[in-house]
Amino acid sequence: MYKNLIGGEWVHGTRTSRNINPSDTGDLVGEFAQADASQARQAIEAASVAQKSWAQSTPQQRFDILDMAGTEILARKLELGDLLAREEGKTLPEAIGEVTRAAHIFKFFAGETLRTSGDLVPSVRLGVNVEVTREPVGVVGLITPWNFPIAIPAWKLAPALAFGNAVVLKPAELVPGSAWALADILQRAGLPPGVLNLVMGRGSEVGQVLLEDERVNAISFTGSVDTGRRVARACVERMAKFQLEMGGKNPMVVLDDADLDVAVGAAINSAFFSTGQRCTASSRFIVTERIHDRFVSAMADRMSGLKVDDARTSGTDIGPVVDERQLSQDQAYINIGKAEGARLVAGGETIATSSHGKPGFYLQPTLFADTTASMRINREEIFGPVASVVKVRSYEEALAMANDTEFGLSAGIATTSLKHATHFKRNSQAGMVMVNLPTAGVDYHVPFGGRKGSSYGPREQGRYASEFYTTVKTAYTQA
Ligand code: NAD
Repeated sequence: MYKNLIGGEWVHGTRTSRNINPSDTGDLVGEFAQADASQARQAIEAASVAQKSWAQSTPQQRFDILDMAGTEILARKLELGDLLAREEGKTLPEAIGEVTRAAHIFKFFAGETLRTSGDLVPSVRLGVNVEVTREPVGVVGLITPWNFPIAIPAWKLAPALAFGNAVVLKPAELVPGSAWALADILQRAGLPPGVLNLVMGRGSEVGQVLLEDERVNAISFTGSVDTGRRVARACVERMAKFQLEMGGKNPMVVLDDADLDVAVGAAINSAFFSTGQRCTASSRFIVTERIHDRFVSAMADRMSGLKVDDARTSGTDIGPVVDERQLSQDQAYINIGKAEGARLVAGGETIATSSHGKPGFYLQPTLFADTTASMRINREEIFGPVASVVKVRSYEEALAMANDTEFGLSAGIATTSLKHATHFKRNSQAGMVMVNLPTAGVDYHVPFGGRKGSSYGPREQGRYASEFYTTVKTAYTQA
Protein backbone atom coordinates (compact mmCIF):
# COMPACT_ATOMS: atom_id res chain seq x y z
CA MET A 1 0.00 0.00 0.00
CA TYR A 2 1.50 3.32 -1.13
CA LYS A 3 0.35 6.26 0.99
CA ASN A 4 -0.03 9.98 0.51
CA LEU A 5 2.57 12.38 1.88
CA ILE A 6 1.07 15.18 3.97
CA GLY A 7 3.12 17.40 6.28
CA GLY A 8 6.05 14.97 6.23
CA GLU A 9 3.91 11.94 7.24
CA TRP A 10 2.87 9.05 5.02
CA VAL A 11 -0.88 8.74 5.56
CA HIS A 12 -3.65 6.41 4.42
CA GLY A 13 -6.31 7.80 2.10
CA THR A 14 -10.03 7.42 2.42
CA ARG A 15 -10.00 4.69 -0.26
CA THR A 16 -7.50 3.01 -2.55
CA SER A 17 -6.99 2.61 -6.27
CA ARG A 18 -5.40 -0.23 -8.18
CA ASN A 19 -2.55 0.60 -10.55
CA ILE A 20 -2.81 -1.88 -13.45
CA ASN A 21 -0.09 -2.79 -15.98
CA PRO A 22 -1.46 -2.02 -19.49
CA SER A 23 0.87 -4.67 -21.00
CA ASP A 24 -0.69 -7.35 -18.78
CA THR A 25 -3.98 -6.41 -17.18
CA GLY A 26 -3.64 -9.29 -14.70
CA ASP A 27 -0.55 -7.63 -13.21
CA LEU A 28 -1.27 -5.28 -10.29
CA VAL A 29 1.53 -2.71 -9.92
CA GLY A 30 0.27 -1.69 -6.50
CA GLU A 31 -2.56 -0.31 -4.38
CA PHE A 32 -2.36 3.44 -3.94
CA ALA A 33 -4.04 5.58 -1.30
CA GLN A 34 -6.62 8.02 -2.63
CA ALA A 35 -6.97 11.33 -0.83
CA ASP A 36 -10.32 13.09 -0.48
CA ALA A 37 -11.05 16.81 -0.43
CA SER A 38 -10.35 17.17 3.27
CA GLN A 39 -6.92 15.52 2.97
CA ALA A 40 -6.16 17.78 0.02
CA ARG A 41 -6.92 20.76 2.29
CA GLN A 42 -4.64 19.33 5.00
CA ALA A 43 -1.85 19.08 2.41
CA ILE A 44 -2.40 22.71 1.39
CA GLU A 45 -2.29 23.79 5.06
CA ALA A 46 0.95 21.84 5.60
CA ALA A 47 2.45 23.47 2.51
CA SER A 48 1.47 26.98 3.55
CA VAL A 49 3.02 26.53 6.99
CA ALA A 50 6.23 24.96 5.62
CA GLN A 51 6.67 27.45 2.80
CA LYS A 52 7.54 30.34 5.12
CA SER A 53 10.74 28.77 6.43
CA TRP A 54 11.54 27.03 3.11
CA ALA A 55 11.54 30.46 1.46
CA GLN A 56 14.29 31.42 3.97
CA SER A 57 16.44 28.34 3.28
CA THR A 58 19.82 28.97 1.68
CA PRO A 59 20.48 28.18 -1.97
CA GLN A 60 23.06 25.66 -0.74
CA GLN A 61 20.38 23.76 1.27
CA ARG A 62 18.11 23.62 -1.75
CA PHE A 63 21.01 22.72 -4.05
CA ASP A 64 22.03 19.79 -1.84
CA ILE A 65 18.52 18.30 -1.70
CA LEU A 66 17.80 18.61 -5.43
CA ASP A 67 21.27 17.35 -6.34
CA MET A 68 20.94 14.36 -4.01
CA ALA A 69 17.52 13.53 -5.47
CA GLY A 70 18.99 13.66 -8.98
CA THR A 71 21.83 11.37 -7.94
CA GLU A 72 19.46 8.78 -6.44
CA ILE A 73 17.16 8.85 -9.48
CA LEU A 74 20.15 8.23 -11.77
CA ALA A 75 21.46 5.42 -9.57
CA ARG A 76 18.03 3.73 -9.65
CA LYS A 77 17.19 4.44 -13.30
CA LEU A 78 16.77 0.78 -14.28
CA GLU A 79 14.41 0.01 -11.40
CA LEU A 80 12.44 3.27 -11.78
CA GLY A 81 12.37 2.79 -15.56
CA ASP A 82 10.93 -0.68 -15.05
CA LEU A 83 8.21 0.72 -12.76
CA LEU A 84 7.41 3.43 -15.29
CA ALA A 85 7.21 1.00 -18.23
CA ARG A 86 5.05 -1.29 -16.12
CA GLU A 87 2.51 1.33 -15.05
CA GLU A 88 2.35 3.47 -18.21
CA GLY A 89 3.33 1.15 -21.06
CA LYS A 90 6.15 2.97 -22.84
CA THR A 91 9.00 0.63 -23.75
CA LEU A 92 11.72 -0.04 -21.20
CA PRO A 93 14.42 1.96 -23.08
CA GLU A 94 11.98 4.88 -23.43
CA ALA A 95 11.09 4.63 -19.74
CA ILE A 96 14.73 4.53 -18.63
CA GLY A 97 15.33 7.55 -20.87
CA GLU A 98 12.47 9.39 -19.16
CA VAL A 99 13.83 8.58 -15.70
CA THR A 100 17.30 9.77 -16.74
CA ARG A 101 15.79 12.98 -17.96
CA ALA A 102 14.03 13.49 -14.61
CA ALA A 103 17.41 13.09 -12.86
CA HIS A 104 19.04 15.63 -15.18
CA ILE A 105 16.22 18.10 -14.49
CA PHE A 106 16.90 17.91 -10.74
CA LYS A 107 20.63 18.42 -11.34
CA PHE A 108 19.93 21.40 -13.60
CA PHE A 109 17.63 23.10 -11.06
CA ALA A 110 20.06 22.34 -8.24
CA GLY A 111 22.44 24.62 -10.19
CA GLU A 112 19.71 27.20 -10.73
CA THR A 113 19.37 27.75 -6.96
CA LEU A 114 22.85 29.31 -7.07
CA ARG A 115 22.31 31.27 -10.26
CA THR A 116 19.23 33.23 -9.17
CA SER A 117 20.07 36.89 -9.55
CA GLY A 118 18.39 40.27 -9.78
CA ASP A 119 19.14 43.73 -11.10
CA LEU A 120 20.49 46.83 -9.43
CA VAL A 121 19.31 49.72 -11.58
CA PRO A 122 20.05 53.45 -11.36
CA SER A 123 16.83 55.34 -10.69
CA VAL A 124 15.62 58.22 -12.82
CA ARG A 125 15.51 60.10 -9.49
CA LEU A 126 18.74 61.44 -7.97
CA GLY A 127 20.04 59.45 -4.98
CA VAL A 128 17.61 56.58 -5.39
CA ASN A 129 18.58 52.98 -6.12
CA VAL A 130 16.25 50.43 -7.63
CA GLU A 131 16.58 46.71 -6.92
CA VAL A 132 14.70 44.09 -8.89
CA THR A 133 14.61 40.72 -7.10
CA ARG A 134 12.79 37.43 -7.46
CA GLU A 135 10.80 35.81 -4.64
CA PRO A 136 8.97 32.50 -4.43
CA VAL A 137 5.33 32.49 -5.49
CA GLY A 138 4.31 30.61 -2.31
CA VAL A 139 2.29 27.40 -2.40
CA VAL A 140 2.14 25.83 -5.85
CA GLY A 141 -0.34 23.14 -6.92
CA LEU A 142 1.05 20.77 -9.55
CA ILE A 143 -1.43 18.72 -11.59
CA THR A 144 0.10 16.22 -14.00
CA PRO A 145 -1.07 13.84 -16.78
CA TRP A 146 -0.39 10.13 -17.22
CA ASN A 147 1.84 10.12 -20.28
CA PHE A 148 5.12 11.20 -18.64
CA PRO A 149 4.72 9.80 -15.12
CA ILE A 150 8.12 10.97 -13.83
CA ALA A 151 9.42 13.63 -16.25
CA ILE A 152 6.44 15.99 -15.99
CA PRO A 153 6.25 15.87 -12.16
CA ALA A 154 10.05 16.41 -12.18
CA TRP A 155 9.98 19.41 -14.49
CA LYS A 156 7.39 21.10 -12.30
CA LEU A 157 8.73 20.01 -8.88
CA ALA A 158 12.38 20.84 -9.45
CA PRO A 159 11.94 24.55 -10.29
CA ALA A 160 9.13 24.95 -7.74
CA LEU A 161 11.41 23.71 -4.94
CA ALA A 162 14.57 25.36 -6.29
CA PHE A 163 12.98 28.81 -6.07
CA GLY A 164 11.63 28.36 -2.52
CA ASN A 165 8.03 27.31 -3.10
CA ALA A 166 6.14 24.61 -1.20
CA VAL A 167 4.25 22.11 -3.32
CA VAL A 168 1.11 20.00 -3.39
CA LEU A 169 1.50 17.45 -6.20
CA LYS A 170 -1.53 15.65 -7.63
CA PRO A 171 -0.37 13.06 -10.17
CA ALA A 172 -2.63 11.41 -12.75
CA GLU A 173 -4.82 8.61 -11.39
CA LEU A 174 -3.45 6.05 -13.88
CA VAL A 175 0.24 6.35 -12.98
CA PRO A 176 0.76 7.23 -9.29
CA GLY A 177 3.75 4.88 -8.85
CA SER A 178 6.46 7.02 -10.42
CA ALA A 179 5.23 10.17 -8.66
CA TRP A 180 5.17 8.28 -5.36
CA ALA A 181 8.78 7.16 -5.90
CA LEU A 182 9.80 10.72 -6.68
CA ALA A 183 8.14 12.08 -3.51
CA ASP A 184 9.85 9.37 -1.46
CA ILE A 185 13.25 10.22 -2.94
CA LEU A 186 12.85 13.97 -2.34
CA GLN A 187 11.60 13.48 1.18
CA ARG A 188 14.56 11.27 2.08
CA ALA A 189 16.93 13.75 0.40
CA GLY A 190 16.09 16.11 3.26
CA LEU A 191 13.07 18.24 2.39
CA PRO A 192 11.57 19.71 5.57
CA PRO A 193 8.09 18.32 6.40
CA GLY A 194 5.29 19.95 4.41
CA VAL A 195 7.48 21.43 1.68
CA LEU A 196 6.39 18.64 -0.66
CA ASN A 197 3.00 17.01 -0.26
CA LEU A 198 1.72 14.20 -2.47
CA VAL A 199 -2.04 13.74 -2.75
CA MET A 200 -3.09 10.98 -5.10
CA GLY A 201 -6.74 11.03 -6.01
CA ARG A 202 -9.41 12.10 -8.47
CA GLY A 203 -9.02 15.25 -10.50
CA SER A 204 -12.62 16.25 -9.86
CA GLU A 205 -12.08 15.97 -6.11
CA VAL A 206 -8.44 16.54 -5.11
CA GLY A 207 -7.55 18.57 -8.22
CA GLN A 208 -10.60 20.75 -7.84
CA VAL A 209 -9.65 21.62 -4.22
CA LEU A 210 -6.23 22.79 -5.44
CA LEU A 211 -7.90 25.02 -8.02
CA GLU A 212 -10.31 26.62 -5.54
CA ASP A 213 -8.32 26.96 -2.31
CA GLU A 214 -7.15 30.54 -1.69
CA ARG A 215 -3.96 29.28 -0.01
CA VAL A 216 -2.69 27.86 -3.32
CA ASN A 217 -0.94 30.79 -5.00
CA ALA A 218 -0.23 29.20 -8.36
CA ILE A 219 -1.23 26.16 -10.43
CA SER A 220 0.95 24.45 -13.01
CA PHE A 221 -1.16 22.09 -15.10
CA THR A 222 -0.39 19.65 -17.90
CA GLY A 223 -3.22 17.65 -19.43
CA SER A 224 -6.16 17.88 -21.77
CA VAL A 225 -7.66 21.04 -23.22
CA ASP A 226 -10.99 20.52 -21.43
CA THR A 227 -9.40 20.26 -18.01
CA GLY A 228 -7.04 23.10 -18.85
CA ARG A 229 -9.99 25.40 -19.53
CA ARG A 230 -11.47 24.42 -16.18
CA VAL A 231 -8.15 25.23 -14.46
CA ALA A 232 -8.00 28.61 -16.20
CA ARG A 233 -11.54 29.59 -15.19
CA ALA A 234 -11.02 28.61 -11.54
CA CYS A 235 -7.68 30.45 -11.31
CA VAL A 236 -8.93 33.63 -12.96
CA GLU A 237 -11.91 33.66 -10.61
CA ARG A 238 -9.60 34.00 -7.58
CA MET A 239 -6.66 35.70 -9.35
CA ALA A 240 -4.21 32.82 -8.87
CA LYS A 241 -1.22 32.53 -11.18
CA PHE A 242 -1.44 29.61 -13.61
CA GLN A 243 0.30 27.95 -16.54
CA LEU A 244 -1.22 25.33 -18.85
CA GLU A 245 0.35 22.78 -21.19
CA MET A 246 -2.32 20.97 -23.18
CA GLY A 247 -2.97 19.15 -26.42
CA GLY A 248 -1.47 19.21 -29.87
CA LYS A 249 -2.13 18.24 -33.48
CA ASN A 250 1.47 18.55 -34.51
CA PRO A 251 2.29 18.70 -38.21
CA MET A 252 5.38 17.40 -39.94
CA VAL A 253 6.00 18.78 -43.42
CA VAL A 254 7.93 16.57 -45.86
CA LEU A 255 9.24 18.39 -48.96
CA ASP A 256 10.26 16.88 -52.30
CA ASP A 257 13.93 17.60 -51.57
CA ALA A 258 13.91 15.74 -48.21
CA ASP A 259 16.29 12.87 -47.50
CA LEU A 260 13.67 10.10 -47.54
CA ASP A 261 15.38 8.00 -44.84
CA VAL A 262 15.67 10.98 -42.51
CA ALA A 263 12.04 11.96 -43.13
CA VAL A 264 10.69 8.46 -42.57
CA GLY A 265 12.86 7.90 -39.46
CA ALA A 266 11.63 11.15 -37.93
CA ALA A 267 8.02 10.42 -38.91
CA ILE A 268 8.00 6.90 -37.44
CA ASN A 269 9.52 8.15 -34.20
CA SER A 270 7.18 11.16 -34.00
CA ALA A 271 3.96 9.33 -34.66
CA PHE A 272 4.37 5.92 -33.10
CA PHE A 273 7.08 5.78 -30.44
CA SER A 274 5.78 6.02 -26.88
CA THR A 275 2.60 4.61 -28.50
CA GLY A 276 1.88 8.05 -29.99
CA GLN A 277 0.99 9.23 -26.49
CA ARG A 278 3.19 12.30 -26.47
CA CYS A 279 1.75 15.80 -26.59
CA THR A 280 4.51 16.55 -29.14
CA ALA A 281 3.78 13.48 -31.32
CA SER A 282 3.11 14.27 -34.97
CA SER A 283 -0.17 13.05 -36.29
CA ARG A 284 -0.31 15.03 -39.57
CA PHE A 285 2.25 14.43 -42.32
CA ILE A 286 1.92 17.14 -44.93
CA VAL A 287 3.80 15.86 -47.95
CA THR A 288 4.53 17.51 -51.31
CA GLU A 289 3.40 15.59 -54.39
CA ARG A 290 6.66 14.37 -55.96
CA ILE A 291 7.86 12.57 -52.80
CA HIS A 292 4.37 11.64 -51.59
CA ASP A 293 4.06 8.08 -52.95
CA ARG A 294 7.63 7.13 -52.00
CA PHE A 295 7.06 8.51 -48.48
CA VAL A 296 3.81 6.58 -47.98
CA SER A 297 5.25 3.29 -49.23
CA ALA A 298 8.47 3.70 -47.16
CA MET A 299 6.33 4.41 -44.09
CA ALA A 300 4.25 1.27 -44.70
CA ASP A 301 7.47 -0.76 -45.10
CA ARG A 302 8.97 0.53 -41.85
CA MET A 303 5.68 0.07 -40.00
CA SER A 304 5.42 -3.57 -41.00
CA GLY A 305 8.67 -4.19 -39.09
CA LEU A 306 7.61 -2.47 -35.86
CA LYS A 307 7.03 -4.86 -32.99
CA VAL A 308 4.03 -4.12 -30.76
CA ASP A 309 4.43 -6.02 -27.51
CA ASP A 310 4.82 -5.95 -23.73
CA ALA A 311 6.59 -2.70 -22.80
CA ARG A 312 9.23 -4.59 -20.83
CA THR A 313 10.01 -7.26 -23.43
CA SER A 314 13.33 -6.78 -25.17
CA GLY A 315 12.94 -5.70 -28.80
CA THR A 316 9.51 -4.07 -28.35
CA ASP A 317 9.20 -0.92 -30.47
CA ILE A 318 5.71 0.08 -29.35
CA GLY A 319 4.15 -0.75 -26.00
CA PRO A 320 0.43 -0.87 -25.24
CA VAL A 321 -2.02 2.02 -25.10
CA VAL A 322 -2.31 3.26 -21.51
CA ASP A 323 -5.82 1.96 -20.72
CA GLU A 324 -9.10 0.74 -22.12
CA ARG A 325 -10.67 4.20 -22.35
CA GLN A 326 -7.78 5.55 -24.43
CA LEU A 327 -7.81 2.42 -26.61
CA SER A 328 -11.51 2.94 -27.35
CA GLN A 329 -10.81 6.57 -28.23
CA ASP A 330 -8.06 5.50 -30.66
CA GLN A 331 -10.36 2.88 -32.24
CA ALA A 332 -13.18 5.40 -32.52
CA TYR A 333 -10.88 7.75 -34.47
CA ILE A 334 -9.74 4.91 -36.73
CA ASN A 335 -13.40 4.29 -37.54
CA ILE A 336 -13.99 8.01 -38.07
CA GLY A 337 -11.03 8.08 -40.50
CA LYS A 338 -12.47 5.18 -42.49
CA ALA A 339 -15.93 6.75 -42.51
CA GLU A 340 -14.45 10.06 -43.68
CA GLY A 341 -13.01 8.26 -46.71
CA ALA A 342 -9.34 8.13 -45.71
CA ARG A 343 -7.34 5.21 -47.12
CA LEU A 344 -5.97 2.88 -44.43
CA VAL A 345 -2.34 2.25 -45.42
CA ALA A 346 -1.24 0.22 -42.41
CA GLY A 347 -2.43 -0.99 -39.02
CA GLY A 348 -5.85 -0.23 -37.59
CA GLU A 349 -6.33 -3.45 -35.61
CA THR A 350 -6.10 -4.15 -31.92
CA ILE A 351 -3.96 -7.05 -30.70
CA ALA A 352 -5.47 -9.02 -27.82
CA THR A 353 -2.33 -10.31 -26.11
CA SER A 354 1.42 -9.84 -25.81
CA SER A 355 3.85 -12.42 -27.20
CA HIS A 356 3.68 -14.01 -23.72
CA GLY A 357 -0.08 -14.46 -24.14
CA LYS A 358 -0.94 -11.76 -21.57
CA PRO A 359 -3.99 -9.58 -22.20
CA GLY A 360 -3.19 -5.89 -22.77
CA PHE A 361 -4.33 -2.76 -24.61
CA TYR A 362 -2.35 -3.32 -27.81
CA LEU A 363 -2.97 -1.44 -31.04
CA GLN A 364 -1.10 -1.67 -34.35
CA PRO A 365 0.49 1.61 -35.45
CA THR A 366 -1.95 3.07 -37.93
CA LEU A 367 -1.45 5.29 -40.97
CA PHE A 368 -4.06 6.88 -43.23
CA ALA A 369 -3.33 8.41 -46.65
CA ASP A 370 -5.50 10.37 -49.13
CA THR A 371 -6.80 12.53 -46.30
CA THR A 372 -7.88 16.17 -46.38
CA ALA A 373 -7.11 18.93 -43.92
CA SER A 374 -10.74 19.24 -42.88
CA MET A 375 -11.17 15.62 -41.76
CA ARG A 376 -11.64 15.15 -38.03
CA ILE A 377 -8.59 12.84 -37.93
CA ASN A 378 -6.57 15.85 -39.09
CA ARG A 379 -8.11 18.35 -36.71
CA GLU A 380 -8.69 16.61 -33.36
CA GLU A 381 -6.07 15.20 -31.01
CA ILE A 382 -6.30 11.38 -31.01
CA PHE A 383 -3.40 10.75 -28.59
CA GLY A 384 -2.55 7.29 -29.88
CA PRO A 385 -0.40 5.61 -32.54
CA VAL A 386 -2.56 6.94 -35.37
CA ALA A 387 -1.35 9.38 -38.04
CA SER A 388 -2.39 10.58 -41.47
CA VAL A 389 -0.84 11.91 -44.66
CA VAL A 390 -2.13 14.87 -46.66
CA LYS A 391 -0.77 15.55 -50.14
CA VAL A 392 0.00 19.17 -51.10
CA ARG A 393 1.42 20.87 -54.20
CA SER A 394 3.93 23.32 -52.71
CA TYR A 395 5.87 24.42 -49.65
CA GLU A 396 3.57 27.43 -49.31
CA GLU A 397 0.50 25.20 -49.20
CA ALA A 398 2.24 22.91 -46.69
CA LEU A 399 3.10 25.80 -44.37
CA ALA A 400 -0.44 27.18 -44.48
CA MET A 401 -1.88 23.74 -43.71
CA ALA A 402 0.63 23.14 -40.89
CA ASN A 403 -0.53 26.38 -39.25
CA ASP A 404 -4.22 25.74 -39.89
CA THR A 405 -5.00 24.25 -36.48
CA GLU A 406 -6.28 25.44 -33.12
CA PHE A 407 -3.08 24.02 -31.56
CA GLY A 408 0.55 25.17 -31.71
CA LEU A 409 2.83 22.97 -29.65
CA SER A 410 5.44 21.45 -31.97
CA ALA A 411 5.95 21.41 -35.75
CA GLY A 412 8.53 19.75 -37.98
CA ILE A 413 9.89 19.92 -41.49
CA ALA A 414 12.01 17.42 -43.43
CA THR A 415 13.95 19.22 -46.16
CA THR A 416 17.48 19.74 -47.48
CA SER A 417 16.62 23.31 -48.46
CA LEU A 418 18.15 25.89 -46.12
CA LYS A 419 15.74 28.45 -47.55
CA HIS A 420 12.64 26.45 -46.69
CA ALA A 421 13.97 25.29 -43.31
CA THR A 422 14.72 28.90 -42.35
CA HIS A 423 11.37 30.16 -43.60
CA PHE A 424 9.54 27.38 -41.75
CA LYS A 425 11.35 28.10 -38.46
CA ARG A 426 10.32 31.76 -38.75
CA ASN A 427 6.74 31.26 -39.90
CA SER A 428 5.53 28.15 -38.10
CA GLN A 429 2.94 29.09 -35.46
CA ALA A 430 4.23 26.48 -33.00
CA GLY A 431 6.20 26.96 -29.78
CA MET A 432 8.80 24.38 -30.85
CA VAL A 433 10.07 23.77 -34.40
CA MET A 434 12.14 20.80 -35.55
CA VAL A 435 14.14 20.52 -38.78
CA ASN A 436 14.93 16.97 -39.94
CA LEU A 437 14.05 15.71 -36.45
CA PRO A 438 10.99 14.14 -34.84
CA THR A 439 8.48 16.68 -33.48
CA ALA A 440 8.81 14.92 -30.11
CA GLY A 441 12.03 14.70 -28.12
CA VAL A 442 13.25 17.91 -26.51
CA ASP A 443 16.18 19.01 -24.35
CA TYR A 444 15.61 19.63 -20.64
CA HIS A 445 17.56 22.88 -20.29
CA VAL A 446 15.64 25.04 -22.78
CA PRO A 447 12.04 26.30 -22.77
CA PHE A 448 9.20 23.90 -23.49
CA GLY A 449 5.74 25.02 -24.52
CA GLY A 450 3.41 26.00 -27.29
CA ARG A 451 1.09 28.65 -28.65
CA LYS A 452 -2.61 29.04 -29.44
CA GLY A 453 -4.75 26.33 -27.83
CA SER A 454 -1.76 24.23 -26.72
CA SER A 455 -0.33 26.35 -23.93
CA TYR A 456 -1.02 29.31 -21.73
CA GLY A 457 1.31 31.31 -19.52
CA PRO A 458 5.09 31.25 -19.07
CA ARG A 459 7.19 28.46 -20.57
CA GLU A 460 8.28 25.42 -18.57
CA GLN A 461 11.85 24.11 -18.15
CA GLY A 462 15.28 25.63 -18.45
CA ARG A 463 16.02 29.11 -17.17
CA TYR A 464 12.60 30.31 -18.37
CA ALA A 465 10.94 28.27 -15.59
CA SER A 466 11.74 31.08 -13.14
CA GLU A 467 9.10 33.23 -14.86
CA PHE A 468 6.40 31.02 -13.40
CA TYR A 469 7.91 29.86 -10.13
CA THR A 470 9.04 33.28 -8.93
CA THR A 471 7.44 36.67 -8.63
CA VAL A 472 9.33 39.89 -9.22
CA LYS A 473 9.73 42.63 -6.62
CA THR A 474 10.97 46.14 -7.39
CA ALA A 475 12.36 47.97 -4.33
CA TYR A 476 13.40 51.66 -4.24
CA THR A 477 15.92 53.03 -1.71
CA GLN A 478 16.81 56.67 -1.04
CA ALA A 479 20.53 56.49 -0.32
P1 NAD B 1 -6.53 15.13 -18.13
O1 NAD B 1 -6.84 16.56 -18.42
O2 NAD B 1 -7.64 14.18 -18.13
O3 NAD B 1 -5.85 15.01 -16.69
C1 NAD B 1 -4.71 15.76 -16.35
C2 NAD B 1 -4.68 15.95 -14.85
O4 NAD B 1 -5.77 16.81 -14.48
C3 NAD B 1 -4.88 14.64 -14.06
O5 NAD B 1 -4.04 14.64 -12.93
C4 NAD B 1 -6.34 14.74 -13.65
O6 NAD B 1 -6.64 14.00 -12.49
C5 NAD B 1 -6.48 16.22 -13.41
N1 NAD B 1 -7.86 16.71 -13.40
C6 NAD B 1 -8.93 16.19 -14.04
N2 NAD B 1 -10.04 16.91 -13.74
C7 NAD B 1 -9.67 17.90 -12.91
C8 NAD B 1 -10.35 18.97 -12.26
N3 NAD B 1 -11.66 19.14 -12.38
N4 NAD B 1 -9.64 19.80 -11.50
C9 NAD B 1 -8.31 19.65 -11.35
N5 NAD B 1 -7.61 18.65 -11.91
C10 NAD B 1 -8.27 17.79 -12.69
O7 NAD B 1 -5.37 14.70 -19.14
P2 NAD B 1 -4.70 13.25 -19.29
O8 NAD B 1 -5.68 12.38 -19.99
O9 NAD B 1 -4.08 12.80 -18.03
O10 NAD B 1 -3.48 13.57 -20.26
C11 NAD B 1 -3.58 13.57 -21.65
C12 NAD B 1 -3.58 14.97 -22.19
O11 NAD B 1 -2.45 15.67 -21.71
C13 NAD B 1 -3.49 15.05 -23.69
O12 NAD B 1 -4.42 15.97 -24.18
C14 NAD B 1 -2.09 15.57 -23.95
O13 NAD B 1 -1.92 16.28 -25.13
C15 NAD B 1 -1.84 16.40 -22.77
N6 NAD B 1 -0.42 16.56 -22.49
C16 NAD B 1 0.15 17.76 -22.78
C17 NAD B 1 1.49 17.97 -22.56
C18 NAD B 1 2.11 19.29 -22.87
O14 NAD B 1 3.16 19.58 -22.33
N7 NAD B 1 1.50 20.13 -23.69
C19 NAD B 1 2.28 16.94 -22.03
C20 NAD B 1 1.67 15.72 -21.75
C21 NAD B 1 0.30 15.56 -21.99
